[in-house]
Amino acid sequence: RAPFFVRIYNIQVKAAETMESTRRRTQHSTNGKGSEAVKSAQWGRAWEVDWFSLTGVVSLLCFAPFIVFYFVMACDQYECSISQPLLELYQGKATLPSIWARAPSFTWTAAKIYAVWVSFQVFLYICIPDVVHKFLPGYVGGVQDGARTPAGLINKYEINGLQCWIITHALWFANANYLHWFSPTIIFNNWIPLMWCANILGYAVSTFAFLKAYLFPTNAEDCKFTGNIFYNYMMGIEFNPRIGKWFDFKLFFNGRPGIVAWTLINLSYMAKQQELYGQVTNSMILVNVLQGIYVLDFFWNEAWYLKTIDICHDHFGWYLGWGDCVWLPYLYTLQGLYLVYHPVQLSDTHALAVLLLGLIGYYIFRSTNHQKDLFRRTEGSCSIWGRRPTHIECSYLSADGRSHRSKLLTSGFWGVARHFNYTGDLMGSLAYCAACGFSHILPYFYIVYMTILLVHRCIRDEHRCSSKYGKDWKRYTDAVRYRLIPGVF
Ligand code: NDP
Repeated sequence: RAPFFVRIYNIQVKAAETMESTRRRTQHSTNGKGSEAVKSAQWGRAWEVDWFSLTGVVSLLCFAPFIVFYFVMACDQYECSISQPLLELYQGKATLPSIWARAPSFTWTAAKIYAVWVSFQVFLYICIPDVVHKFLPGYVGGVQDGARTPAGLINKYEINGLQCWIITHALWFANANYLHWFSPTIIFNNWIPLMWCANILGYAVSTFAFLKAYLFPTNAEDCKFTGNIFYNYMMGIEFNPRIGKWFDFKLFFNGRPGIVAWTLINLSYMAKQQELYGQVTNSMILVNVLQGIYVLDFFWNEAWYLKTIDICHDHFGWYLGWGDCVWLPYLYTLQGLYLVYHPVQLSDTHALAVLLLGLIGYYIFRSTNHQKDLFRRTEGSCSIWGRRPTHIECSYLSADGRSHRSKLLTSGFWGVARHFNYTGDLMGSLAYCAACGFSHILPYFYIVYMTILLVHRCIRDEHRCSSKYGKDWKRYTDAVRYRLIPGVF
């Protein structure tokens, strides 16, 4: 019997051959329109990796965990100053091992808390089918269809995120006010030990998904092998890995331990402020409210989320697996963490400006997403800004060689810029940061990161849409000239 890695290598070669033969079949079945079919059927994430992408992937794999550690450690050891550790290193007052040694390490208490937390979320996701959609008007929950995958499949999803969020938060408030099983500051008090646990889960789930893609993929036709092991590990091979019929890795890891935790983490920071200073500042309330709206919006629209890039186009690898377990809960909540160390009481004008920026950003973000969703759901038979929407008719091919039709909206916010939803998201992100005042740079990491993320995502998405829709995409970009800010970019 061949050693494990030789078997993996053989499976990879076999998988590449299978994909190649699928592509050839596609070419053959389209009778003469071969090259266009092959080109169009390759939409989705890259088949080949250039050196630039590979360098980015390897750097992220090596450095991303340390970036998270650096920010959280800077708060814990240096009162959220991100320059002080570097200065001490430069002056020889600290060394990398001494900084590392000062940070709290793994504890079994944190491991137990984390295990209970993740198991509880798995239980809610798998064992409690959605009932909220039966009595909340306008909410779409229960079993829903995802978008068509590149191989032409349409997966079914159990949408019960809002219900999980409500149950989790009801228990949190019941505990804080009546049950007193644990302190509401439990998350803050174990923050760095919990980070090690989140890392263990993040790496475990990414490695499992990577091996699963070779050994027992959920749908082999939707796997993508680039021939580069680092890229495959980071960007994922399987499109929609599942265990059993319903445990969908992407939906669970993005939404549940990550985003349900977001509001709980903020509540824990709020409780810590109260414990330390005897009051909660208006900046902390603003961060909790604005981010709470964003999180609730996500769960209210979870069925819509099935049609976003994360679910429709990204494969499940370290980028999503580790990112959802570690990057998201630790770096999206930096503002609340900062405010525990630096309680900022904003002037009324400042607070009002932050609130307005956050709400306007949210309105643009939500309305833009809603317009596209409404337009796609009704196939254009709807009204946007009081008029029947204009659009561009498109066609594309799936990997099985079948032709499909689609429409690109060119009115409402989608006529202003090609990704105005990202612009709204960025305004909201800036509001969270501005709630922390202007004396430290650390809380502003979020807006810098979101700008890089969404600009990169925009370019990545446009590249994908261009290979999916070909000349129809060109017609669309001629009609709507700018990506994020009209006249600028
Ligand atoms: P979009 O919701 O903008 O989806 C892009 C897809 O929509 C395209 O791939 C294309 O898919 C389709 N599309 C593009 N243009 C049009 C058009 N004119 N008319 C109709 N359909 C069109 O992007 P995301 O999935 O990235 O983002 C969803 C939301 O999530 C955004 O508001 C974003 O800000 C937010 N987000 C937040 C993140 C965070 O970390 N906080 C991270 C990522 C996203 P098709 O193939 O179907 O044509």
